[in-house]
Amino acid sequence: MVDFTLTDEQQNLREMAHDFAEKEIRPVAWEYDKDGTFPEEIIKKAWEVGLMNSHVPEAYGGVHASTLDGCLIEEELSWGCSGIQTTLGCNGLASAPVILAGSEEIKREYLGRLIEEPLLASFCLTEPDAGSDVSGMRTTAVKKGDKYVINGSKVFITNGGYANWYTVYAKTDKEAGHRGISAFVVPRDAGVVVDKKEDKLGQRASNTAAISFNDVEVPASHLLGEENQGFKLAMMTLDRTRPGVAAMAVGIARAAMEFATEYAKERVQFGVPIAMHQGIQFMIADMATEVEAARLLAWKSAVLLDQGKRNTMVSSHAKRFAADAAMKVTTDAVQVYGGYGFIKEYPVEKLFRDAKIMQLYEGTSQIQRLVIARETLVPRRAGSGAPNAAAATSSNGATPAKEPSAA
Ligand SMILES: Cc1cc2nc3c(=O)[nH]c(=O)nc-3n(C[C@H](O)[C@H](O)[C@H](O)COP(=O)(O)OP(=O)(O)OC[C@H]3O[C@@H](n4cnc5c(N)ncnc54)[C@H](O)[C@@H]3O)c2cc1C
Repeated sequence: MVDFTLTDEQQNLREMAHDFAEKEIRPVAWEYDKDGTFPEEIIKKAWEVGLMNSHVPEAYGGVHASTLDGCLIEEELSWGCSGIQTTLGCNGLASAPVILAGSEEIKREYLGRLIEEPLLASFCLTEPDAGSDVSGMRTTAVKKGDKYVINGSKVFITNGGYANWYTVYAKTDKEAGHRGISAFVVPRDAGVVVDKKEDKLGQRASNTAAISFNDVEVPASHLLGEENQGFKLAMMTLDRTRPGVAAMAVGIARAAMEFATEYAKERVQFGVPIAMHQGIQFMIADMATEVEAARLLAWKSAVLLDQGKRNTMVSSHAKRFAADAAMKVTTDAVQVYGGYGFIKEYPVEKLFRDAKIMQLYEGTSQIQRLVIARETLVPRRAGSGAPNAAAATSSNGATPAKEPSAA
């Protein structure tokens, strides 16, 4: 049976998130965007009311909300400001590999920290020369006795300047491409250096930083899962987080549609509100369809995961479609506002800038198409969950040349 009705609990959760976005995020979002202000106060409030870390299992102090529940929160908070939601939601990205592969001790310690205090964690995969193709990463982790010594640099790390701990991907076998990557939990006080805060086009309230590791030592127990299984872990993580990114894109698109709809009813040209012109009506109609379709894909990719099913292709469908929808809807919202849409005093200009990142992070729109093309051209063998040899796709990105995926 297919049923899109939310339960009472889910509707309450959605209303609670919307209320928070309306009262705590919207009033400051455009101001924070202007100055690139980090939303410290909002983090504390969101943490207090339980709108952060909803993914943490009950055994470690969390509520273990479903992926669909997470999407409901992410859409509403992104409706408020997607830059602020990127800040609030990044703990989910950083801690997914810990939940998937961390030892009991590591889970208790590092997931526990997020529950005990409003702390942040970061996910460190991307490097200056390894974006879509993470197999080219140069950061290394060398085992010395009962420790690993990590050296290298990461770029574009969300919350990198503020995180208490980091999930770090590094090569444990330099010759093995994507099969030589391992993942580690690295506490900030192990010696993580924050090199630079990026000045961005959009999502300016979120912190994006370059960080480095110079002979940073972590106990061997901080390895997540087995050595050289980090690539698989990154893939599994992105399957889990892409539904939420799609939901964020829906939130941005919905906000832009609402602003455009209101403006179209107020702005008079040729003696009537511009909403009376069919050219404007059709833009608004297309916005409504894009929002609806993107949300359904986001929900489907989340529900598959909640049912314990493989969602790789559907989460790429959702992320790609919703990101492109957010870009289109916000572009058209600027169009509905006419020249005023281009002016910072009006709200849609920010949404247009914020939407762009949806097509870039957690795998670009090209990379999502790459995943979809491979899954379509060379489908997984039914029931086995195993990839056909040619169906390999690396995490942020591209296909490891002539190698089957570990994922
Ligand atoms: C604000 C922000 C926050 C981010 N947060 C994080 C974070 O918290 N953690 C983290 O690890 N990373 C993060 N990232 C990094 C992000 O995931 C990468 O930027 C993204 O994966 C693309 O990598 P790249 O920028 O190196 O682009 P490149 O990989 O160099 O791509 C450049 C262009 O080439 C295209 N391209 C590349 N390969 C192919 C191919 N095989 N086929 C077709 N087209 C291709 C891409 O789609 C893109 O259009 C963040 C980035 C930004 C901007």
